[in-house]
Amino acid sequence: MTIEDLYTPLEEAKKEIRRRWADKDLEKKVAKFLKGNIPDVFLHEPLAISTTHVATPNWALLEFRKEAQEIGLKPLIFEYLEDAFITTNFDKASLARMVFYHGRDDHGDMMTTSRHVIDLTGKEEKKKIKDIETLWGSNLVEFHHGVFMSYCPGVDVTDGSSFYKAMGNCAKEYYPYILALYIRNGVLFENYIANRHEQKFLDEILFPAFEIVQKEFGLKPLIVTIAPQNEADNKYWWCYPEFIKTLIPKNKEEEERETVHNVNKASGLSVEELKELMSKWQVKLKMEDWNLSLEIVKFYRKNGYHQSGDFIADPLKKEAIILLTHNPWRGDEEYTLVHEMLHVLLYDYDKYSEDLILKNFQKSSLEHDAYMEKLEETTHNLTRIILGRSDR
Ligand SMILES: [Zn+2]
Repeated sequence: MTIEDLYTPLEEAKKEIRRRWADKDLEKKVAKFLKGNIPDVFLHEPLAISTTHVATPNWALLEFRKEAQEIGLKPLIFEYLEDAFITTNFDKASLARMVFYHGRDDHGDMMTTSRHVIDLTGKEEKKKIKDIETLWGSNLVEFHHGVFMSYCPGVDVTDGSSFYKAMGNCAKEYYPYILALYIRNGVLFENYIANRHEQKFLDEILFPAFEIVQKEFGLKPLIVTIAPQNEADNKYWWCYPEFIKTLIPKNKEEEERETVHNVNKASGLSVEELKELMSKWQVKLKMEDWNLSLEIVKFYRKNGYHQSGDFIADPLKKEAIILLTHNPWRGDEEYTLVHEMLHVLLYDYDKYSEDLILKNFQKSSLEHDAYMEKLEETTHNLTRIILGRSDR
C-alpha cells in the first residue's frame, strides 16, 4: 500500500459522503463496528474533519476551512489534547516552536522565522498537551485556541481524547475505529508524509488500520489531501501567516536574537561550494551516518554581535541542519562550517550537560554562561586542531 492509495479525490468524496450518509444499513454497520461509541458531534450531519492535535491557525488549518467550504461540509477539528507532548512529532513540535512564513527567496525556498512558545529544554516532554504552560505562564491549548478563534471563525472544535481512550490503549488499537468514522460520518482532510520517520507510523499503524476498515465495509475511508505537496514543501503547511507572530509575547532572549531562514548568499562562498565542503568534512569527521543539510540564514543579534554560524541537531535521529550566515564577515567559512559540525558531534554530550546545569541554574545565569563559554572554547580548540589553522 502507498500513501496515494489512501486518498479519494475531493469531487468523488463530495458525492460519496452524501450517498453513504443516506445509507441506513451502512449507518447500522458503522455503529456496530464502533460498539455504539460514536462521538455525539458526528451524529447530526456528515462533517469535514481535521485531526490536528490542537486547533491553531497554521496554513494547513486555514486551507482546511477553505476546502470544507468547497466540499460543502461543516468543518470540525477533532483534537487530541490528552496525548503526550513529544518534540519528535512534527505536528506537536510546531505548536511549541511556531514557524512563520515570510514568502520565498529567489531560489523559491521558504523564508521563515520561528518563536518558542514553551520551554523546550525537555521539561515539558511527555506531559499531556492540555497541561503545558507557555513561556509567559498561560495554558498552551488556551493560547492556540484564542488565536485560532479570532482568525478562523466558523470551525467547530472538540476534544476527541475520551473517544481515543475508549477505543484502545495505543494508536495501533484505536486507529481502525478512527478510520471507521470516515466511512460515512465525515471526510478526513490530511496530508501524510512519506519520510523515514513517518514510514513506521504508515507501515505499522495507518496502512493496516485502513485495510481492516476497507475490508470490513467494502469501502475506503474518505480521506482527502489538503493540497498535493512534495515533502520539501510540506513544512509550509505547519507555518503560520506572519501577522500571527505579533500576538506572541516575546521573551528576553528572543528579543535579542532572531534567525531568518533560507536567504540568498550575499558574499563569500556560494551555497554549492559550501555544500561541497560539507560533504568533504562529513567524510573526514566520520559523520556519514548523519543526515546533514545546510541553510543560509540572516542572524539578527541585538547586541550587534556578528554571528557566523549555528546548528539545529537531533542526535537520536542523527539529523542536523548547519546554519551559516549569508554575509560572512571574517572570511573563513570553512572554519565556521567545521566548528558547527563539531558542535553537532558534541551535541548529545553538550545537551546532556546543559540539561543537568539547567536543573539547578537559570538560563543565562553565571553558571550557565560559564558552561557555554567552556563549550565554545572546546569546540574552537578542536576545530583549530582538525583544520590546522585558527580563525583568530
Ligand atoms: Zn560555537
